[in-house]
Amino acid sequence: MKVLCILYDDPKGGMPKNYPLAELPKLTGYPDGQTLPTPENIDFNPGELLGCVSGELGLRKFLEENGHELVVTSDKDGDNCEANHHIKDADVVISQPFFPFYLTREKIDSAKNLKLAITAGIGSDHVDLQAAMDNNIDVFEVTYCNSRSVAEHIVMMILSLVRDYHNQHRIVNEGGWNIADAVQRSYDVEGMHIGTVAAGRIGLDALRKMKPFDVHLHYFDRHRLPESIEKELNLTFHETVESMVAVCDVVTINCPLHPETENLFDTELINKMKKGAYIVNTARGKICNREAIASALKSGQLSGYAGDVWFPQPAPNDHIWRTMPNHGMTPHTSGTSLSAQTRYAAGVREILECFMGNKEVRNEYTIVKDGKLAGTGAHSYSEGSATSGSEEAQKYKKM
Ligand code: NAD
Repeated sequence: MKVLCILYDDPKGGMPKNYPLAELPKLTGYPDGQTLPTPENIDFNPGELLGCVSGELGLRKFLEENGHELVVTSDKDGDNCEANHHIKDADVVISQPFFPFYLTREKIDSAKNLKLAITAGIGSDHVDLQAAMDNNIDVFEVTYCNSRSVAEHIVMMILSLVRDYHNQHRIVNEGGWNIADAVQRSYDVEGMHIGTVAAGRIGLDALRKMKPFDVHLHYFDRHRLPESIEKELNLTFHETVESMVAVCDVVTINCPLHPETENLFDTELINKMKKGAYIVNTARGKICNREAIASALKSGQLSGYAGDVWFPQPAPNDHIWRTMPNHGMTPHTSGTSLSAQTRYAAGVREILECFMGNKEVRNEYTIVKDGKLAGTGAHSYSEGSATSGSEEAQKYKKM
């Protein structure tokens, strides 16, 4: 069996010789009772860089000892890239959302042996899910592996946007001390109305984490939460996204990207938001219209925009979100902390062990199975695909 694994580049200075922390905290499970990944074994040290090419998700020993071939590359964009060459006879492809190998219909058609696409992380929109269904390719992701990592990032971004942290930090780095400059856009979050588009694993955790800030919490989702949770968090449920964005000071976006959510935040919806609101989008770049966000920041309709997801990825060097005013963007890092890498590397190993041992992969990891959306895929995605335009990723030039 040939396994093709597309990972991000190693650190510019080579793999770290040591890490800031000697060990990771021990987690015992996820809040809803789901267990952490349960592979039979792992061949890496938790807390090490696993998501880059030399990290290999800790899979080489395991795959080679079992007689399989592992190809790892970061060369994933453009017609002549290495990944396009290897996909033609790969049985399994593994890719991370942070540095996605866009598995378009064209690439799926060229992949004659492909049976399985694994997302090392959460969010399988980089796979043309409709083409996967049509070609009987199963798609799995490591559900929950980094949901709480992202929720932490959301809290950080809400606070840093509203309090205007980036500006204040820049003033210090530049040797300055003009406090009036530093605070003229700085507010407290306390008392604000905070809403999430989707209250799945990430959205609900972000609501829970924001609760102690004494804010008013709102959500919109196609699945309503149990009444007990709505009471616990004093949540306001909205039947439509329009109703929620009209009353919120901060909107955080936490739904998957699929045809229903692509381009959801266009000029029309942004104009229905409260004037001067903030958006934190750690879900997927394509849920927000690129130009509409940039012009709303310029006009003041939005006071700030942060998140770590772009379209495509890597974002072209001249992507307007790199330079628009009052943004707090990061390069898709929220779900790939060293802590999260440990969980998704173990989860990928668990999925491979199941596949190789002819055992069922967990329902919660399942996105597409036997030509249909299934498991988490049936709950959280809709049919169709969202990969169009991904070829623009080849415009990024390494710096
Ligand atoms: P989840 O499956 O637990 O939750 C998804 C929620 O979205 C569900 O409650 C579902 O009902 C809701 N939803 C789906 N379509 C909707 C629609 N049209 N309108 C309203 N609600 C809708 O997944 P999760 O763990 O919370 O992750 C959500 C998404 O966040 C992922 O699909 C991925 O795109 C993104 N994500 C990003 C990172 C990162 O590193 N930035 C990491 C993990 C996940």
